[in-house]
Amino acid sequence: MYIKKGDTVVIRTGKYKNMTGVVDKAFPSENKVIVKGEAKVGDSKIVINEVTKSKKARSAQDQGGLVKKIAKMDASNVALICSNEECVKNGKATRIKIVTQVVDGKEVKLRACVKCGAIIEAAPKKAAKKETAKKAPATKKTSTRKTKKAEAPADAE
Ligand SMILES: [Zn+2]
Repeated sequence: MYIKKGDTVVIRTGKYKNMTGVVDKAFPSENKVIVKGEAKVGDSKIVINEVTKSKKARSAQDQGGLVKKIAKMDASNVALICSNEECVKNGKATRIKIVTQVVDGKEVKLRACVKCGAIIEAAPKKAAKKETAKKAPATKKTSTRKTKKAEAPADAE
């Protein structure tokens, strides 16, 4: 299975055909993925592979009811979209070829776009969540206007 977490994919068949989303989770052993994506159709929103499950009440607080969740789907139902500009422009799914490159003296297999040859990187593994916490903007003195309002107080404690 060459689909990995973080990949942008397009759904190839079925009800959600041609919708795009991002792989939220990959299950290589099952050849399945969870794709998060949605589209607006008229007034309604379609969420890829969203299912409604009824949940039993477990306690007085937990009343159960209908719970929406995103179901796994077969990885073969999705195709990668290359993030290369040219490929994005035509917005179509691409096919992948596996190329071997030598990185640090080691041969690694990488995924590359058949059309443009760009290497499609897998999303960095866990713990790569960059903390983009809004820190005070670095002392830039380029702003001449004083109309900057609403500097949301960062409630960092
Ligand atoms: Zn490409």
